[in-house]
Amino acid sequence: MTNEAIVDLRSDTVTRPSAGMYEAMMAAPLGDDVYGEDESVNRLEKTAAHILGKQAGLFLSSATQANLAAMLAHNARGEEILLGNCYHIFVSEAGGTSALGGIIMHPLATDTAGGLALEQVLAAIKEDDPHHPITRTLALENTVSGRVQDPAQHRQLAEAVREQGLSVHLDGARLMNASVALAIPAAEIVEPFDSVMMCLSKGLGAPVGAVLCGSDEFIGRARRLRKMLGGGMRQAGVLAACGLYALRHNIERLAEDHDHARALGAGLAEIDGLPVSHETNMVFIEPQAKDLEPLRQHLLQHRVEIGHQCPRVRLVTHLDIDSASIDRAITAFQSYYR
Ligand SMILES: *Cc1c(COP(=O)(O)O)cnc(C)c1O
Repeated sequence: MTNEAIVDLRSDTVTRPSAGMYEAMMAAPLGDDVYGEDESVNRLEKTAAHILGKQAGLFLSSATQANLAAMLAHNARGEEILLGNCYHIFVSEAGGTSALGGIIMHPLATDTAGGLALEQVLAAIKEDDPHHPITRTLALENTVSGRVQDPAQHRQLAEAVREQGLSVHLDGARLMNASVALAIPAAEIVEPFDSVMMCLSKGLGAPVGAVLCGSDEFIGRARRLRKMLGGGMRQAGVLAACGLYALRHNIERLAEDHDHARALGAGLAEIDGLPVSHETNMVFIEPQAKDLEPLRQHLLQHRVEIGHQCPRVRLVTHLDIDSASIDRAITAFQSYYR
């Protein structure tokens, strides 16, 4: 048993490039991307823009950097964005939008599904008064901790705030999980948004990178900002080739991750006294506080790794988790609670 690979359920960021992805990396035509001469990066940017139905795309080193460049492109210093109080830009990007962009983040309480209500958003837009910052952008997210957001509701929000002169950004780090879960093309989901960010190194399985898409004019500004943020890369095609490979081979297969998460959730739900819920590629459990650390240690002995979050622990399925891994994880949990 000790030679078995670890079943790593901490995040879908832990995947390693597959053999096919390494081959794509080796074969990638390269150039200096800061000069716009890396064919692989150019192809990735075009492909992503096509998939998302936008004019142009920009390859960035991470989803955090892509969100930051987008916030800087939409807002001047002293302007304000509205976003959910549990959204990644507000909680998990080290405050970069405020610290580096001088942008005010106005967090709104999300509902239990991770969404924002229309009246709540409209009420938060500040009136034109020299006392107030100018409310410039609404930033939404999909999925929100695995929860798929209703595209019709996003469209309604986007259209309403655009009428008030705001721009609308989608943090779609796991957009493709939503697209596959809903069986709706990503371009249709993001149609109402001015800009959209998609992460390549989560469920899609690339080692590095994200793409930001929008109009030619918007992406032109974001390209300069990426340079300002230190994100201009040279022969980045070795990474872009992985992203291209991911877009060709790893979108549809996200359905397997969702199936695996469903099976994991169903297996764990049979354990008495362990609250369990399931969303796309995530399962959430709420062990009692006294159990959390002993459970983690027990699972590690069975070569299953989970995160430290408290009180709800997130288990995430991904490319390197197969159905045998799910069975091993369920068995390891059962042996703790027996
Ligand atoms: C993970 C994530 C990001 C940032 O991704 P990094 O790879 O950590 O830069 C942004 N938004 C959401 C919703 C995420 O889940």
